[in-house]
Amino acid sequence: MTVELVGLTCREMEELLVRMGEPAYRGRQVCRWVYREGAGEVEAMTDLPLTLRRRLAESVTITLPVLQLQRQSRDGTRKLLLGLEDGLTVETVLIPQPRKAGFTLCLSSQVGCPVGCPLCATGMSGFRRNLGVHEIVGQYLLARGLLRREEQTGVIRNVVFMGMGEPLLNYEAVLKAVRILTDTAAVGMAQRHVTISTAGEVEGIRRLAGEGLQVNLAVSLHAASNRVRDVLVPLNRKYPLELLEQALQEYFARTGRRITLEYVLVEGVNTSNGDARALARFARSLRANVNLIPYNPVSGSPYRRPSAAEVRRFQREVEAGGVRAPVRQEHGSDIEAACGQLRAKNAPGRGRKSAPAHRTSRE
Ligand code: SF4
Repeated sequence: MTVELVGLTCREMEELLVRMGEPAYRGRQVCRWVYREGAGEVEAMTDLPLTLRRRLAESVTITLPVLQLQRQSRDGTRKLLLGLEDGLTVETVLIPQPRKAGFTLCLSSQVGCPVGCPLCATGMSGFRRNLGVHEIVGQYLLARGLLRREEQTGVIRNVVFMGMGEPLLNYEAVLKAVRILTDTAAVGMAQRHVTISTAGEVEGIRRLAGEGLQVNLAVSLHAASNRVRDVLVPLNRKYPLELLEQALQEYFARTGRRITLEYVLVEGVNTSNGDARALARFARSLRANVNLIPYNPVSGSPYRRPSAAEVRRFQREVEAGGVRAPVRQEHGSDIEAACGQLRAKNAPGRGRKSAPAHRTSRE
């Protein structure tokens, strides 16, 4: 049986090479080839002895998702539709940072999503399965390889788990992927450049607080009253705002990391002055950052985007409550860059669904 290298930690690669009768440092070499150099085959690992390369080639594989479709928006956002080994697809988005300072990469953690938010194309498409570690890290390796081949000057500066799926419902795989992405012997990103976005999976937030990581946590809040949030984020029926707030308080106390609350503004649903005051109260109690994101509607959606004047009024009301609330710029709204749209559009038999604008605002 062959072993898949993508998704193994460097330590696991060392152990693998030791089991093959090699010194542990050979495993570190393999790790560097896979995660730093982006080697697609053992043959490329030129500082390994030829005999070892031959043995490895018989016992390991290096598998990345396959790029099926790529769309680029006017603002440079690139959406990639990636095929997995079982024929399912996921989306990954490359978002250029201002002043050509590289890219933010938005990763998916599941095929579909069990949370079922009605604002979201992924949520509407149902849940198929969790992604494996190799499929999560593979999205990164594929996107980076694409940039390298194009000799892009920019590199991937940030990784955000804001693509398809609820990352904390695929906890083990996401955490292992984060460790590989941030291990200096593997990909080597700074932990502070990694953001995990959750719809409010309280158990996962509690676990994450104890991991000793310095990653960022973002919460798709979208409403600060249970009545509205029960509709916009159905996970709220399991973990109402009181429980979520408690878990976030604990997270902040244990990690010292400020949380970001993402709030998609939907006309007539969560944009009243009362909603704004509730949001300010919630954010103040957590000392959290707030991002306001006007909903990015698509045809067939019952929800609408508020006018610019409404957005400004809501923002003023939140800020009057003592909380800064920048309105985030959208990325790639002309290419179905919001979570799940491209996949929904290109899946046989599926219509175009609505999608939450918060998934287009990664910076
Ligand atoms: S918004 Fe996030 S949590 Fe909600 S259905 Fe979409 S992917 Fe899942």
